[in-house]
Amino acid sequence: MLEIAIFAAGCFWGVEFHFQHLNGVVETEVGYTGGSVVNPTYKEVCGGNTGHAEAVRIKFDPEKISYEQLLEEFWSIHDPTSLNRQGFDFGYQYRSAIFCTTKEQFDKAIKSKENLEKLGKYKRKIVTSIEMAKPFYRAEEYHQKYYEKNKKGGCAISNAKKAENSQDLTYRVTQLKETEPPFSGKYYKNFENGIYYCAICETPLFSSKSKYDSKSGWPSFFDAIGEIGKRIDTSNNMTRTEIYCKKCGAHLGHIFNDGPQPTGLRYCVNSASLDFKKE
Ligand SMILES: [Zn+2]
Repeated sequence: MLEIAIFAAGCFWGVEFHFQHLNGVVETEVGYTGGSVVNPTYKEVCGGNTGHAEAVRIKFDPEKISYEQLLEEFWSIHDPTSLNRQGFDFGYQYRSAIFCTTKEQFDKAIKSKENLEKLGKYKRKIVTSIEMAKPFYRAEEYHQKYYEKNKKGGCAISNAKKAENSQDLTYRVTQLKETEPPFSGKYYKNFENGIYYCAICETPLFSSKSKYDSKSGWPSFFDAIGEIGKRIDTSNNMTRTEIYCKKCGAHLGHIFNDGPQPTGLRYCVNSASLDFKKE
């Protein structure tokens, strides 16, 4: 039996993009929920007075992906300590919230939040609200699968079929956190003047002014211009600090303390997570 999960974690475009590709997720749609206005429009919700949040409704097969796993994904793609703000998006419609469709989901969500708090991963309090689902209003058609539809031509991410098959490198790196082989990416030896954008949401992340040759085989920067999220990554028997795009949650790479001055940092980024534009 399929179940429904509903999450709000900032701009719904990126949230849907993240969930739609998970194994066990059957269907996703974006919409508005949690407020009191019936059939709201995007404009009304953005006005901030409807009480609604931008949310994603996820139909999933609990035998393939559990609600607990979905909760883990939900926590990982945004900052749940940030009140009414994710990335560059401000407002009550961008609050962090879990809308539960069953009492079991509600109990699991509460428990998962408590566990996360116990881990002490966040310095600030988790502000995510956990509530029972209210009516969900499907958003306008152009918001549905927005990243897939609006990704400019050329990049394979626009090819939904490829992405679903997990063959596409950008998809595998940004969403499954794989690493491209060193000295293989399209930007590690690119030193032209320009801006490096997130390959998924096109947020400007790095400037060529802070790019340097770290000899690592991956594009390396000592500073960022966009908002970069950081979290501890203990995969592959290492403790590293993962970096991701704060706006959409795309995995970028890792950050190390062996970079050049003035920051001493090395943002080690996969070419596949970036889109470069000359200036
Ligand atoms: Zn992004």
